[in-house]
Amino acid sequence: MSDVKQKLVVRNIGLLLTGKLEAPIADGDCVIAIDGRISAFGYEKDLDTEGATTTVDAKGVTLAPGLIDSHVHPVVGDYTPRQQQLHWIDSTLHGGVTTMISAGEVHMPGRPKDVVGLKAMAIAAQRWYENFHPSGVKVHAGAPVIEHGMVEQDFKDLADAGVKLLGEVGLGSVKDGKTGKQMVDWARKYGIQSTIHTGGPSIPGSGLVDADMVLETGTDVIGHINGGHSALPDDQIVCLCESCTKGLEIVHNGNERAALLTLNTARELKQLDRVILGTDGPAGSGVQPLGILRMVAMLSSLGNVPAELAFCFANGNTARQRDLDVGLLEPGYAADFVLMDQAQHAPGKDILESVSLGNLPGVGMTIIDGIVRTERSRNTPPAGRLPEVVDR
Ligand SMILES: [Zn+2]
Repeated sequence: MSDVKQKLVVRNIGLLLTGKLEAPIADGDCVIAIDGRISAFGYEKDLDTEGATTTVDAKGVTLAPGLIDSHVHPVVGDYTPRQQQLHWIDSTLHGGVTTMISAGEVHMPGRPKDVVGLKAMAIAAQRWYENFHPSGVKVHAGAPVIEHGMVEQDFKDLADAGVKLLGEVGLGSVKDGKTGKQMVDWARKYGIQSTIHTGGPSIPGSGLVDADMVLETGTDVIGHINGGHSALPDDQIVCLCESCTKGLEIVHNGNERAALLTLNTARELKQLDRVILGTDGPAGSGVQPLGILRMVAMLSSLGNVPAELAFCFANGNTARQRDLDVGLLEPGYAADFVLMDQAQHAPGKDILESVSLGNLPGVGMTIIDGIVRTERSRNTPPAGRLPEVVDR
């Protein structure tokens, strides 16, 4: 007990969401985290709440694992050159996102495309986001975009230096499935995860990646299967869902009809566990601080998915697909949470019905590594009830 530096108790929780498709709601009203890790959850009367260093009275609101944006394009700190915007990550935290995954730092002005330069930038980006978490948000970055001329040793060098992700295949000079597969295989051999740009060109200078190239390349995640922005034809999207078992990433900056097609196909295949969500921001459409919540509400309402399952697309599914220690209500996992409630005057008998009718919830608090990071969101509609820190 004396070794515990930090103990968080969140009590009086109205609804516990788990991030687990197989059991999206847990019994209980209390979560305990010690030194930034979930240690227990359940009913307060059954738990050891002694010695808390921070106590949160949830006031009956819903607690879920913090949301994960599976597809962002960060560059440096909390600034994006794409739309010359400051504090977009902080704004996104106010939308319940506590973890972001880079699909390449492609908006860096003057981004190096020679092999030594792209490796150096990837390693530096991995470091600067490991060393600095904007407003506490965990940004997994340092995702090099593969270019012709890379050899196996380059992927070993990157992995040895701490790089764990590839940026979207197809954004660089490698635009054929054969070369893509070779490099993705090298990356995988050294423990680097991969994703791909699926669909038409995003901005001038980028290119088309069709279903044949996606399947041949075989990345771990089918990046923005609903396009970023232009989607593939319907038959190719269905083919991608049916022909492999990779993650099906749906993004906010994509085609919403194609998003619903992907969701419906995954459901027919009984593979909703493959569905994960991203924004693809910052993008030509700007940054969307509420993008992940909007995807949850859109897929729940138009895709007829119960809200408690749609939230799993935004936390637990991504954690499992990408092997992260966040996104699930489970002892040992990081104590990253979003506390939210039905928005004021939003229709529905409770938060879940309200979201299933297409409404955003109101975020009342975010917690990362057991530390309260934000209180009432400045971006969501106001929540009906607000949690409160009662004792720090
Ligand atoms: Zn893309």
